[in-house]
Amino acid sequence: MTVAGMVKSSFVDYPGLVSCVLFLPGCNFNCFYCHNRLLMESEYQRIDLDYIDEFLNSRKDMLDAVVITGGEPTMQPDLIPFMLKIKEKRFKLKLDTNGSSPEVITKVLRAGLVDYFAVDYKAPSARYPEIAGGKAGGETVINTIRLLLESRADFEVRTTVIPQLDTHDLLQMARELPIVPRYVLNRYRKPDNYLPCDEERVNVTPYSQKRLDALADAIRQYQPNTVT
Ligand code: SF4
Repeated sequence: MTVAGMVKSSFVDYPGLVSCVLFLPGCNFNCFYCHNRLLMESEYQRIDLDYIDEFLNSRKDMLDAVVITGGEPTMQPDLIPFMLKIKEKRFKLKLDTNGSSPEVITKVLRAGLVDYFAVDYKAPSARYPEIAGGKAGGETVINTIRLLLESRADFEVRTTVIPQLDTHDLLQMARELPIVPRYVLNRYRKPDNYLPCDEERVNVTPYSQKRLDALADAIRQYQPNTVT
């Protein structure tokens, strides 16, 4: 297991809990607005696993949870044993995923280690390759979300509302998804690192919070549990 980044204490990554966030490298998508682009390249740092182990042992009274994010964590072959070691410390565990690997999520669900999942739904299914890179597919992400629903897992679906998604796209996405327990619309922020070819796309002005709230109102006709 390689851990390439660590936020020791976060109040925003696990709803209602204080968490330590661990970033795993590598991703099979290539979203033009990715905020963790350095994790997709080979020059990321490697945090000593013993250090993480000792840190978590020393923070048992101060932290509620550990969030495993990326990159795309389901690409790591030893994800489940890694999560098992964390659960043995009695932390709540959240897994962030782009939803591209329902097979891995099936195994994770069977292992029963994750308390909360967050799955990104990035674009209308037909626009997935354009927004999230050539190998990305919206149907597979929806399959992952259906799996979580069928297994009665606790989870949320998240969409970063990039300016390239218009009202029609967002309503289409809300219709494509089954009704989910929590649908989070996040405001777009320009990433620090991006590909030169994406200069124009990343610099488009984001929606205002007021506009985002209005979009959420419209989306609730299909996804009643939408929040901004
Ligand atoms: S799925 Fe997430 S980590 Fe992967 S490229 Fe997209 S935003 Fe970045």
